[in-house]
Amino acid sequence: MVAEVIVDIAHSEVDKIFDYLCDDGLQAGCRVTVPFGRTYVAGFVMRVKESSSLPPSALKRIARVYDEPPALNGECLALASRLAARYHVPMALVLRLFLPAEMRAGKVGEIYRSFASAAVEQAEFSPRAKVQRELFEYLLSHGKTPCAALRERFSGALTALEKKGLIRITRERVQRSPYADLPPGGGVHELTKEQEAALSSVLSSDKRVHLLHGVTGSGKTEIYLNLIAQTLAQGRSAVFLVPEISLTPQMLSQLRARFGGAAAILHSGLSAGERFDEWWRIRSGEAKIVVGARSAVFSPLENIGVLIIDEEHDGSYVSETSPRYNTFDVALLRAEYNGCKLVLGSATPSVETYMHARAGEYNLIRLTKRINRRPMPEIIVSDMRREVRKGNNSFFSAALRQELEETLSGGKQAILFLNRRGYSRSVICTECGYVAKCESCDVALTYHHEEHCLKCHYCGARYRMLSACPECGGKHLVYHGTGTERVVEELKKLYPAARVLRMDNDTTGGKEGHFKILQAFAGGEADILVGTQMIAKGHDFPAVTLVGILDADMSLHFSDYRSGERTFQLITQVAGRSGRGEEKGKVVLQTYDPENAVLRFAVSYDYEGFYENEISLRRATAFPPFALIVRVLVSAETDADALEGLRRVYFPLEKIYLDNRDRFLFFNKMHAPIRRIQGRHRYQVLMRLTDQTLLAAVYAVCAENTDRRWLVYVEENPANLS
Ligand code: ADP
Ligand code: ZN
Repeated sequence: MVAEVIVDIAHSEVDKIFDYLCDDGLQAGCRVTVPFGRTYVAGFVMRVKESSSLPPSALKRIARVYDEPPALNGECLALASRLAARYHVPMALVLRLFLPAEMRAGKVGEIYRSFASAAVEQAEFSPRAKVQRELFEYLLSHGKTPCAALRERFSGALTALEKKGLIRITRERVQRSPYADLPPGGGVHELTKEQEAALSSVLSSDKRVHLLHGVTGSGKTEIYLNLIAQTLAQGRSAVFLVPEISLTPQMLSQLRARFGGAAAILHSGLSAGERFDEWWRIRSGEAKIVVGARSAVFSPLENIGVLIIDEEHDGSYVSETSPRYNTFDVALLRAEYNGCKLVLGSATPSVETYMHARAGEYNLIRLTKRINRRPMPEIIVSDMRREVRKGNNSFFSAALRQELEETLSGGKQAILFLNRRGYSRSVICTECGYVAKCESCDVALTYHHEEHCLKCHYCGARYRMLSACPECGGKHLVYHGTGTERVVEELKKLYPAARVLRMDNDTTGGKEGHFKILQAFAGGEADILVGTQMIAKGHDFPAVTLVGILDADMSLHFSDYRSGERTFQLITQVAGRSGRGEEKGKVVLQTYDPENAVLRFAVSYDYEGFYENEISLRRATAFPPFALIVRVLVSAETDADALEGLRRVYFPLEKIYLDNRDRFLFFNKMHAPIRRIQGRHRYQVLMRLTDQTLLAAVYAVCAENTDRRWLVYVEENPANLS
């Protein structure tokens, strides 16, 4: 027999099928090791066939076959081929998405432990063998026990009894279980009428894609859980995606409470061993539900009955590393393959999704009320220009101060949201105007007070804090802009008795860092939680009655067609954290631009109004979803190499443009907005197309012009245009 093998080298030159001789019975999807050139490399069997077009003498034999059953099932193989074609990336790169990274390298494997158990029901012991008798009796009463736990107390007796045949020592595989001591969460609720109607709409509609457009706190999770229960009852499996790793434990605990060991978790924050074990639990069919962030869409589940993408509008669903897949596209392919439903949920659907839903392509379901008819929190707008005129230069408006005080004295909790971590946005010399910048990136450094250093938020580099300006020697350095650290400092001054927690990228280190902070806050160990956008999403803290949005304008000023959409989403999501329990919630929104249309729609919870406004703007200006923005980014260690790379892709791209002028709204080459990141010089070709079909040609140009000296890749409607 002959196996078609893809070698695990992500390089376009070896991105083809190689034939190898193999034994009968080898299955497609197996991992193998094959001789390749002068060495051995890992590979995947894509197909097994009777014979090759090459003579048998020209074929080498597979050196080693791994695991049973095959690591990749038929669906994964089919999906991988489609994705490789769609994103023009080597097959090996796509296949890697389907396996835990550790498994490819062969670094982790199963763990085995020794267990002892009694082999007979009774035995006679001489009075001298006291320890042996104790061990035997212990095992009789306790059953199978890990040897490690017995060694200290019964050391020599273990071997002695095994020799006599009175006990049995077995080696067994043990599972590393992530979040093993997670308390089960949530109860089973009887569905409200609205939830009931939503559920039956999903079940009865024959559309492939369903959009649950439900206000924050309308009980979407309960609907997902019901869908999952229905799916399991039919003997099928379910994928449940959430936008942030920090949200997975809360969902896992609800899934475990209802479905026990059928629930598995997959995300990049797990340890290598945990990921390996969870992955095999899914592959072997023991786990039927996978909850996870974007990468869990590649779970090796069989017979999927439903795929759920919660907070579908979230930017994290688009991968920012190659292959730059969109989770929705992958989920849709899987839904089609399995003939099942894809359910999207959001309080603030993306403009594009909503357009498809309104056009009838998706089943659009609205949930307009919070559970128990709880009111939406009242949003108080603080005009920060007025505050400044009144002499208030602090980060908190008078209204926010007052609400904070009431919340604290009432024993309730508050969340303050600011989308910048660290202490200050930048450090500036007041004498010469020098701005501290990263040596490898073209961006200003952020001061971090706690660690007393300057950090680059693009590459993570750390620098010693400056005591004087390196340009002019001036001593007057000022901190410009505010970050979460500075807000916490200010809060501590204002309310010394208040317990404040901070959650951002600096505080969530460690495997369960997020989880610990969230649990502490949920457990009432703090009064105020200050954080970046990671606190905006999905969390359900019933004791929170106040949310402060410290700088609502921040994302409005990005030079990006989606900034209005993002601002609306962020305000609605953060505001949605307030008043989820018994008590009514409030939100204070601080802005320098209170007349802004997007803010007005957000304040009145008017998604439809926002959508109408936004979609007509996009139509008039021919921006997505009425056009496709494509960016080809070239980066290299030296400016010369980056320019050479740019030249190489630019001319063939320009030819596409010249041949299809009527289908281009924009075409130009330029510096990337941030000219250097992590020491790499960056250039881009920016395009706006009215015709998706040109995309393949653009990808092809980039794939043909790869080179050791530069990196080139394509982004479609990029979320981040830095
Ligand atoms: P969403 O995801 O729409 O923001 P959640 O699913 O988090 O909302 O639900 C909000 C709150 O309402 C949660 O605390 C949840 O436990 C509760 N809840 C959901 N459904 C019901 C129900 N049918 N009856 C009572 N409480 C419910
Ligand atoms: Zn940097």
